[in-house]
Amino acid sequence: MPTTTRNLNLPELPLVEEAAAKQNGQSHRTKYGSVTLSPMPGADALAAMTEPTHDSYGRRVRYLRISLTDACNLRCVYCMPEHMQFRPRHELMSDEEIIYLVKVAASLGVDKIRLTGGEPTIRPGVVDLVRRINTVPGIKDVAMTTNALLLDKLAQPLAHAGLNRVNISIDTVDPERFRRITRWGDVDDVWRGIQAAERAGLRPVKLNCVVTRGFNEEDVIDLARLTLENEWEVRFIEMMPFGEVSDFQLSNVVSFREIREKVESVFGPLEEASYDFIDPSRPFRIPGATGTLGFISSVTEPFCQGCGRVRLTADGKLRLCLLRDDEVDLLTPLRAGAGFDKIRALMQEGAFHKPWGHGLASGVFADDRAMNQIGG
Ligand code: SAM
Ligand code: SF4
Repeated sequence: MPTTTRNLNLPELPLVEEAAAKQNGQSHRTKYGSVTLSPMPGADALAAMTEPTHDSYGRRVRYLRISLTDACNLRCVYCMPEHMQFRPRHELMSDEEIIYLVKVAASLGVDKIRLTGGEPTIRPGVVDLVRRINTVPGIKDVAMTTNALLLDKLAQPLAHAGLNRVNISIDTVDPERFRRITRWGDVDDVWRGIQAAERAGLRPVKLNCVVTRGFNEEDVIDLARLTLENEWEVRFIEMMPFGEVSDFQLSNVVSFREIREKVESVFGPLEEASYDFIDPSRPFRIPGATGTLGFISSVTEPFCQGCGRVRLTADGKLRLCLLRDDEVDLLTPLRAGAGFDKIRALMQEGAFHKPWGHGLASGVFADDRAMNQIGG
């Protein structure tokens, strides 16, 4: 019988902090009306308290992925059902709340942020949000995962705002098959987005391809070919199971081994490229190629030992492992007036309880949310 653990048993928080704690806090509107976030220590105080955070297995937690929205302008078959119900805006973290939680994370040694979703570029004000995240003391790297449909217009402003790099999803170069996978997308928009990202200096461009049996397993050849002359990393991702589309995902997963064999059957044996054992993508190269290939084998050969990632879902839960339902609610106490120290303690204790790894091999699936709601 599959089991999942969720909502860790962390210390109780008072729902409302004393009014004095709110003085000088920032006020903004949510479904609760006007919410005042507790005052935040100044930049010097934040810098002074910054310390590295480790989980109970000794892994340093320094990478936060933030889902800016669960909504998307596509409906990829492996990600979400066609008729997806998205959360109303007021249930999502506001910009102020995101910045607050990024500051808390930075005080715990997080220095790398990736913005994702859903589709992060459809969030109103995303450029300004990037600019603000980029100025949080301690944050050294801000990246984004995107389907690139809006990059034609946004790549340059995002780069000016401090975005360093983008990972762009493209599962096939064939227009018909792209439309079938995304349900209505036009692959030409992605090409325009890739070019805009390159012009804006958002390099190295990484291209993400989820390999789905019956949809694009033969397309790995054309995608791998792109690395011959482009300084890109084309990353093949094993499809992972989530929520109500998990049956589809499990029966259509194509393994790392199979993808590699397909690529090698055309280009010959791949060379291993240097690997830091932290990045989930194991790098290889077609001999003589300009770019590299990456394999993200989360399902068949997990890489949990190097994982220092935690996630913030769009509705403000700290998600400790992509493939487990363990979460710590940060937004509710934040909106109820919890102070900086309490939110920091929740985040720190949550990170400490990061599970060692996923439980797919023993039949434990994350079934609370689809991928777009977590932030891949
Ligand atoms: N909309 C953006 C995009 O598609 O790049 C960002 C969000 S998307 C959820 C982040 C990444 O997760 C994408 O590279 C996407 O291909 C990948 N993804 C979505 N569903 C997946 C699944 N079931 N298994 C593996 N990867 C998945
Ligand atoms: Fe949208 Fe990205 Fe999910 Fe595709 S993978 S439906 S682009 S969130």
